[in-house]
Amino acid sequence: MSAELVVVTGGTGFVGSHCIVRLLDAGYRVRTTLRSLARADEVRALVRAGGADPAGLEYAQTDLLHDDGWRDAVAGATFVLHVASPFPVRQPKDPDELIAPARDGSLRVLRAARDAHVRRVVLTSSFAAVGYSSRPDRPFTEDDWTDPDDPGLSPYVRSKAVAERAAWDFVDREGGDLELSVVNPVGIFGPALGTDLSSSVELLLALLKGSVPAVPRGQTSGVDVRDVADLHVRAMTHPDAAGERFLAVSGEPITYPDLARLLRDRLGEDARRVPRLVIPDWLVRVGASVNAELRAVLPELSRSRRASSEKARRMLGWQPRSRDEAIIASAESLVRLGLV
Ligand code: NAP
Repeated sequence: MSAELVVVTGGTGFVGSHCIVRLLDAGYRVRTTLRSLARADEVRALVRAGGADPAGLEYAQTDLLHDDGWRDAVAGATFVLHVASPFPVRQPKDPDELIAPARDGSLRVLRAARDAHVRRVVLTSSFAAVGYSSRPDRPFTEDDWTDPDDPGLSPYVRSKAVAERAAWDFVDREGGDLELSVVNPVGIFGPALGTDLSSSVELLLALLKGSVPAVPRGQTSGVDVRDVADLHVRAMTHPDAAGERFLAVSGEPITYPDLARLLRDRLGEDARRVPRLVIPDWLVRVGASVNAELRAVLPELSRSRRASSEKARRMLGWQPRSRDEAIIASAESLVRLGLV
């Protein structure tokens, strides 16, 4: 019997390319969707850099903003990993630039998957859909939800909260036999396979290049992209994962000053430009009125990002690398790619 076919949306992306590598390694047939087939060579190079053989990889041209092509893209698939969604460094003025592809794109994928009798879709959501509206006195779990109507959300955070809600609603109301499982990662690090970087890795590059003179006292959580890909595959195949969401997080959050220190300690000379100065909170607050980057870190000053991966470990046997290992693997890949 030939291997089952898995469709991965967004093969050009950081998470998408690692999911392809993981699936090929596990012996699946893989088809990936791209906005332009002209980027197929690039995807092949990413997959090769990840240590897998892209020879059998198939490609389909689709855009989350358009209906064309989705039916053919998922035809014959047993599973779909819907990973693609815009994740820009800078937030657009019009939130719809992110919400439309995130929400309507997810619905296009789910509708096509249902019609093609795909068994299960795994949606790459985010911690953004979990932990931005409440501040519980405990680590966040899968029971927590960001309120998509919360007026304080950035366009990206809103896009992920809206898209995940819309996906569950679709499957509840009109999904038929289609199963849905959701992965909610925190900040994803780990090795970049090419130079078109995800926003999470861009942050490390900015520190390594010394593009920012100082770091704020906010914090981020971390998980390795290889473990995020592994969690997608576990969520795809485990019988109990249908109808469930899984936080993908490794350990405790890290403050930006500690992150800068970790890079200096572990990368030596390659981290010589990483800033040593810490921006005082009052300056972040003042600067936030004129600077979009500072505005983005403002909520981080007072928010705890602790989140629990207990569910994925218990139900799916997921065992992620440490947060620091993920961060260092990212930084080392940037050095290797000649970007630092
Ligand atoms: P990425 O490297 O920027 O990849 C984003 C992917 O989405 C790219 O393949 C991109 O295609 C595709 N895409 C964007 N707009 C599209 C559209 N209109 N139609 C079709 N494809 C489109 O980012 P990533 O880190 O891999 O993110 C992948 C997923 O993980 C996203 O759903 C993101 O929200 C989620 N996530 C990421 C993080 C993180 O820290 N990185 C954390 C939590 C969740 P092009 O190459 O053509 O632009």
